[in-house]
Amino acid sequence: MSLAVEIMREQIQTTGGLMAASGLVTGTSGNISARVPGEHFYVVTPSGIPYDKIKKQDLVVVDGSGHVISSERRPSTELKMHLAIYNAREDIGAIVHTHSTYACALAVAGKSLPPILEEMVQLVGGAVPVARYARAGTVHLAAAAVEVLGASNAVLLANHGLVGMGRDLDEAYQVCLVVEKAAQVYAMAAMMGRVEVISPEDVQTLRHQFLHEYGQPKE
Ligand code: 13P
Ligand code: ZN
Repeated sequence: MSLAVEIMREQIQTTGGLMAASGLVTGTSGNISARVPGEHFYVVTPSGIPYDKIKKQDLVVVDGSGHVISSERRPSTELKMHLAIYNAREDIGAIVHTHSTYACALAVAGKSLPPILEEMVQLVGGAVPVARYARAGTVHLAAAAVEVLGASNAVLLANHGLVGMGRDLDEAYQVCLVVEKAAQVYAMAAMMGRVEVISPEDVQTLRHQFLHEYGQPKE
């Protein structure tokens, strides 16, 4: 396997370690994948292995059609959804799927998450839509997620969980954290009886500034 694949395996293992400690998932729920830069391959977590037990060779390398290129392990049952998202969105380099509590509450209520926090808007790009219900692991779930995704970096899966994505693994993981926080804040604010949403103009400006002006330029 190429150096690029090995680097991705290492990064997914690191993100898996964070997932195991984060409380965003329980047991083996959720999954992680990344595009291999410059190659038509993807690396994805194996199905049903606890994050803190995953070894580098357990991480499955697949091509764009989902054929396993390397690893003895079965890939995540949500591979079809990951590939459908990469197919629909050239800008996405990594995907993290979680079953975090407040995101799940919204997904059960069938409610999208409006743009309520600046840090959420910066990373996600706006509201988080909720996909219609389709059973876990099916092509129907993959289609449902892509159907509502648009330019958002996150989508809620009805009665299931959250998918966060980004240019790289770190960003995809941060998206999952910030959406979970915003979902919690949304529930609290709703209980207080008032939810103020950020205007579309401010959402657009916050996202633009985050992408083009925030932080340090790439070396
Ligand atoms: P895998 O262990 O097969 O990735 O499945 C976990 C999950 O969250 C399914 O939606
Ligand atoms: Zn899941």
